[in-house]
Amino acid sequence: MGLIRKLPPSVVNQIAAGEVVERPSSVVKELLENAIDAGATRIDVSVERGGKDLVRIADNGQGMAPDDLLLAFQPHATSKLADVEDLYRIRTLGFRGEALAAIAEVSRFRCQTRQADAPEGSEVVIEGGVAGPIRACGCPPGTVMEVRNLFYNVPVRRTFLKSDSTEAGHVVETFSRIALAHPEVHLTYRSGGKVIHDLPPVTGMRERIAIFHGRELAESLLWIEGRLDQIHLWGYVAHPSQSRSSNKGQYLFLGGRYVRDRSLGHALNEAYRGLLMIGRNPVAFLHLEIPPEEVDVNVHPTKIEVRFRD
Ligand code: ADP
Ligand code: MG
Repeated sequence: MGLIRKLPPSVVNQIAAGEVVERPSSVVKELLENAIDAGATRIDVSVERGGKDLVRIADNGQGMAPDDLLLAFQPHATSKLADVEDLYRIRTLGFRGEALAAIAEVSRFRCQTRQADAPEGSEVVIEGGVAGPIRACGCPPGTVMEVRNLFYNVPVRRTFLKSDSTEAGHVVETFSRIALAHPEVHLTYRSGGKVIHDLPPVTGMRERIAIFHGRELAESLLWIEGRLDQIHLWGYVAHPSQSRSSNKGQYLFLGGRYVRDRSLGHALNEAYRGLLMIGRNPVAFLHLEIPPEEVDVNVHPTKIEVRFRD
């Protein structure tokens, strides 16, 4: 008698959710990336209890047609890829078509969306992966995603969550990465109904660095820029007087996506060698643009790590 069985879709989604959704800040990351990919110029984020009770993200992006709304929540459903070649020329933040299905599997999800030229919007509620009917609704152009009671149906995972303030800290860190990578987007952040950040669009990162990392650091920044063939590196590095005991002050954005990369981190440390005391780490906010075919972003479920061809 054979022992192998094909897992039902709900189990497959739960496993995917385990990779993509670790905590409320993972939800914030995925929904913010979707809003950026939808071309939003304004995004409002609000959370209750560090995002455990509610993550709500409203954007003024392109919205979805009613027919697309249900598809959006299917696993491996995406508008960002068509064939396998596309996988090697990705210019969007998302492409795996996994996030919405995974999040909706482990929360109470409500989505309202409207395309600018549509007379009305449409709405769907999904509880623990079970979708209700698509209904017409009134809403402004764009999309509102509401994720309530994360992990309500996976109690073990809920116990892994930390205090409200710790979870809120992770959310702010995630929010700040998007805010630094996309200064052209108006972003707001509310926690417990209180406005914590209201960031109007700006042209460079500097003002936003000051907001998240302090004036003193922002004033010590040095602009750097370099090009080699089709590679463009630019951004700010901090004066050596502004070092950190960890590498948490190092922000690397690859094509507008926050990534971590050990070899690039190492290169940065090498550049500061002799300028910092042992055990201190430089602070930097760097953007790297390289042709998409030179980098594989499909090596990590949350895409935080990438693989360079060279
Ligand atoms: P991916 O981003 O990898 O495509 P997701 O599960 O995050 O996968 O989203 C599925 C699809 O839903 C997206 O490809 C996009 O077409 C649509 N979508 C998601 N969020 C939004 C949004 N805020 N505005 C418009 N469309 C969206
Ligand atoms: Mg996505």
